[in-house]
Amino acid sequence: MKVWAIVVAAGRGERFGRPKQYELVAGRRVVDWSVDDAREACDGVVIVVPPDRVEDGSCVAGGASRSESVRNGLAAVPEDADVIVVHDAARPAAGVGLFHAVIDAVRAGADAAVPGVPVTDTIKRVAGTEVVETIDRATLVAVQTPQAFRASALRAAHSGGGDATDDAALVERNGGRVVVVPGHVANRKITEPDDLEALEAVLR
Ligand code: C5P
Repeated sequence: MKVWAIVVAAGRGERFGRPKQYELVAGRRVVDWSVDDAREACDGVVIVVPPDRVEDGSCVAGGASRSESVRNGLAAVPEDADVIVVHDAARPAAGVGLFHAVIDAVRAGADAAVPGVPVTDTIKRVAGTEVVETIDRATLVAVQTPQAFRASALRAAHSGGGDATDDAALVERNGGRVVVVPGHVANRKITEPDDLEALEAVLR
């Protein structure tokens, strides 16, 4: 089975203040940690970067949304790939083991596999400042990347050009079977500057 990865690194880091994927953490750029895990676990990697950062043949230019960036990466993945893993560059501490866990779940027959961790906060649905309901957190997981897909399921999910905060959501909308494997709390996504400090400790 041929396994390819798409590492999306084309965000502008609006909440962070600058492109967080190019910050240094534990001595290396965030994107390099993420790409190294992907290279170790997969047969090939496409890196999706801001248009002004396309440096070589393994990079393609990103789009205006995360989903568009994934689609640009997908166009560069060889047709004979059987499994495609999508990973956020902004999660530099995923680790090779997590890549293998999601890939194995797809090999075992799922359309998609995502890492999930239990939700520890109480989650409420709100309308403005009014609480509408409290959701039973025992039925919730917080979902991370890397996410693995049967290649044809991912391509079909993106063929309609939809937008979602992760790719599994598009596969779900298409009726695909998505399974959850245990994620890691340390596999946090860099969103705020504080996240870099926490990851520094994990990666050292
Ligand atoms: O914005 P968010 O934190 O959800 O971004 C998740 C990942 O998607 C990041 O690695 C970011 O670089 C990438 N991204 C992208 N193209 C966009 C927006 C985000 O590649 N237009």
